[in-house]
Amino acid sequence: MNGGGMPSDGTERGAGGPAEVASYEPVIGLEIHVQLRTRTKMFCSCPLSFGEPPNTHTCPVCLGLPGSLPVANAEAIHYGLMIGLAVGSELAPRSIFHRKNYFYPDLPKGYQISQYDEPLCSGGRLGEVRIHRVHLEEDAAKLTHVGSSGRIHGSDASVVDFNRGGTPLAEIVTEPDVRSAEQASEWLRLLRTTLRQLGVSDVNMEEGSLRCDANISIRPVGTTQLGTKTELKNMNSFRFIERGIRAEVARQEALLRAGETVTQETLHFDPRTEAITSLRSKEEAHDYRYFPEPDLPPVRITNEMLHRARTAMPELPAARETRFASVLGLNVESARLLSWRAELGDYFEAALDAGASMHPPAGAQPLANWISELTARHDGDDPADSKVTPQALATLVGLVGSKKLTQGGAKQVLDRLVAEGGDPAAIVDAESLGAVGGADELAPVVRAALEANPDVAAKLRDGDMKPIGVIVGYVMKETRGRADGGEVTAIVRAELGL
Ligand code: ADP
Ligand code: MG
Ligand code: ZN
Repeated sequence: MNGGGMPSDGTERGAGGPAEVASYEPVIGLEIHVQLRTRTKMFCSCPLSFGEPPNTHTCPVCLGLPGSLPVANAEAIHYGLMIGLAVGSELAPRSIFHRKNYFYPDLPKGYQISQYDEPLCSGGRLGEVRIHRVHLEEDAAKLTHVGSSGRIHGSDASVVDFNRGGTPLAEIVTEPDVRSAEQASEWLRLLRTTLRQLGVSDVNMEEGSLRCDANISIRPVGTTQLGTKTELKNMNSFRFIERGIRAEVARQEALLRAGETVTQETLHFDPRTEAITSLRSKEEAHDYRYFPEPDLPPVRITNEMLHRARTAMPELPAARETRFASVLGLNVESARLLSWRAELGDYFEAALDAGASMHPPAGAQPLANWISELTARHDGDDPADSKVTPQALATLVGLVGSKKLTQGGAKQVLDRLVAEGGDPAAIVDAESLGAVGGADELAPVVRAALEANPDVAAKLRDGDMKPIGVIVGYVMKETRGRADGGEVTAIVRAELGL
């Protein structure tokens, strides 16, 4: 019974122990908070803050002073509708706000105005992940722990900046459809792209305008019942999200394999130490004593509001993916990559506009491939931040298409472009990287290759073409990758009279 999946401490588990499980699958649901880029806050007319001095964008409403009354921000509702349209939600003709009660210094009213059982948007789907709901709420103020440097009465101190308090948030909740850490971060990129295209948010994870909590459980592969979940709070980069989920999945798996159970709780992941610590045992909805906000009327969505939201919709990743595949003929992977990551798609379209040649029958596919080559070399998400202009990449693709450059030569030119920028044609001339072609130039090199490898030459003469790679490799080395493999093969055949 002590199979491969059991702990290596030699423990023998009898019939009463946990069943052996060959492998577990992660089950992940995401909750994303998006700060909406409205002019003013969710329930008052204070302007949103972008690094202003603390507590300068406040008023009685967002400070929660007695007697002040909230008014819902129409622009935030408009953005909420656009998000709902983008993910195919059902938009509620009538939704209401609730008070979510909890005590914390970042919440001066003692409750957050949020939505509960009648949200603005229900259901939907983005990519392969189903959306549970999208609702509107207000952000809390920003708490900063200043520690001993701000000691008050001898104790470590925390300070509150109410500028952020009351910023409009859309909370997007997915169904538990995500199955891996990588899928979570890839899908979040799609969501971020979608929100950016919609223009509803700055979607900047480092600055906190896009924040993600991951709900994580695991279950034996092949089973359908959900396991007990934990919630990893507020991870602020795609890399941390991936690492955090991976660490938590490993922690849960180790617990289950050791015959222990997962406790439902809220966790913090420290990206520096990879440590996962408990923030609090998971609260239930009833702990918040949700009740309808008496100071706000229901949100009623009129036909004018729907019309305005529909007219404001830009091209979204799914439509762009279809266009890239069907109109521009990109393969499935490229169409998805360039549409899910808008910055790559924008760079691609800029290079097309700059005249990247579309040599039939390859179409725009070579350009897409060269963008992947560029991103592999460029240290950063957006190739537009590299020294390679879309114009330069377009020229490079053109040189390859017209066979003035081989793939190998073009990669060397690209290395130079990434390091120094400049014009590909000038680099080709200066570095003599142009393709070596034609029998005049290649036949002597092929002859030298055959002479240097007599045993290979003999096999080829006998019709055994397997070792031809040796000859092609020799020629590539001699020409520094500037020959075309197909052409070299043809010249080998001609030289040997095959
Ligand atoms: P809560 O009441 O704790 O907020 P919800 O049912 O509202 O829980 O779900 C919150 C998020 O957790 C959703 O994204 C949902 O998909 C996800 N989720 C729910 N149950 C599980 C589970 N067993 N494993 C992983 N994710 C889950
Ligand atoms: Mg929750
Ligand atoms: Zn205010």
